[in-house]
Amino acid sequence: MASKSPKGPELSIEDYAAGVKRGDRAVLARAITLIESNKPEHQARAQELLQALLGSGGEARRIGITGPPGVGKSTMIDSLGTHLTAQGHRVAVLAVDPTSARTGGSILGDKTRMPRLAQDDAAFIRPSPTSGTLGGVTKTTRETMGLLEAAGFDVVLVETVGVGQSETAVAGMVDFFLVLALAGAGDELQGIKKGVIELADMIAVTKADGDNVARAEAAAAECRAALHILAAASPDWQPPVITISAKENAGLDELWGLIEAHRQALSKSGELAAKRRGQAVQWMHEMVRTRLERAFRAHRGVAGLLPRLEARVRAGELTPSLAVAELMKAFGLESE
Ligand code: GDP
Repeated sequence: MASKSPKGPELSIEDYAAGVKRGDRAVLARAITLIESNKPEHQARAQELLQALLGSGGEARRIGITGPPGVGKSTMIDSLGTHLTAQGHRVAVLAVDPTSARTGGSILGDKTRMPRLAQDDAAFIRPSPTSGTLGGVTKTTRETMGLLEAAGFDVVLVETVGVGQSETAVAGMVDFFLVLALAGAGDELQGIKKGVIELADMIAVTKADGDNVARAEAAAAECRAALHILAAASPDWQPPVITISAKENAGLDELWGLIEAHRQALSKSGELAAKRRGQAVQWMHEMVRTRLERAFRAHRGVAGLLPRLEARVRAGELTPSLAVAELMKAFGLESE
């Protein structure tokens, strides 16, 4: 297997930090690779770098985008991103793709899916890390966002396919969560999970062009009605439902205008700052959970005991509670 370590001569933390700050793409790419690395020495250096960069750069608009495969995510991101760089924004695209983490092949990583943006000097596209669990991938994505902000990117688009828990993970790290949906054969929405609608700050029905316009409008109306019965997650924002066509470049101005309106509304009320602080705390708890579980599983006494206890619980010989009590004792903790 190819080594995941950053290539080229070793850079000092100062070199990394200076390169990232001046927006050097090669250094930025290597810094992200450092963040993605599972090697303890790389992880320690990555943390040093993040610490060194703390407070540099502004806060980007962090936007999550989800939708089932084929809904038009890449086409939309290519159009929207190009539109934004033309207005002077610097746009980064990251992907959280738990399926690629599992198979080792990145579906979302293919830069040719966003041909215009991939050629754009004001844009930076980074595929999903191809190793790690969803938790590992989202940790990398969160930390990479900090690097991108230090490098002066003011719009970060985080793309995810509607698989597993990835939408919840992405919604937990962005300011705005955009759900893309497709009109089905009737006027219903296709391939959209109920739990995901609850996370949405906006729903955009895609491919509203040609003879699909009427169906897209009908699906949007249906969706508005469904949203109406949900209690709004924010006192300052009622999630709108719009139709877009990335192919015909229609609706993208409106889409961006709404994202900006959301930012203004939540900035003014203080909700945006509170949301970001809340996400940071949540992330801290998530990392504590992950670390504790890792330490627990790696613990010598626990590692030997766990399979035996699991077998006994499976066989119905031992209650789960007593098994946990034994494990906690082996770990050095008194059970509750
Ligand atoms: P993703 O899997 O969500 O990234 O979807 P893609 O962006 O790859 O799009 C899937 C297919 O839908 C491609 O064949 C696109 O050409 C097509 N597509 C994307 N956006 C539009 C659109 O606005 N209108 C139409 N008619 N087709 C589109």
